[in-house]
Amino acid sequence: MQRKNLIINCPKCKTSFNFYTSQARPFCSDRCKQVDLGQWLNEEYSVATNEIVDFTLDSTIESAEESNGDFNWQ
Ligand SMILES: [Zn+2]
Repeated sequence: MQRKNLIINCPKCKTSFNFYTSQARPFCSDRCKQVDLGQWLNEEYSVATNEIVDFTLDSTIESAEESNGDFNWQ
């Protein structure tokens, strides 16, 4: 197989990445893809909304990890 190399900027977070190695292209990551899809579905496309969504995702992940540490399921 031939490896292709094309560096582009993510339309969501402007991060440079290889277009051919991303599984969420044209976005850099699945997270950017999901955020963009959510905005289209909600029809709330604004810069302010972007920042709020990113913060919410981070908080959700951290909360889940803390819960796993507090609970001993075994
Ligand atoms: Zn991105």
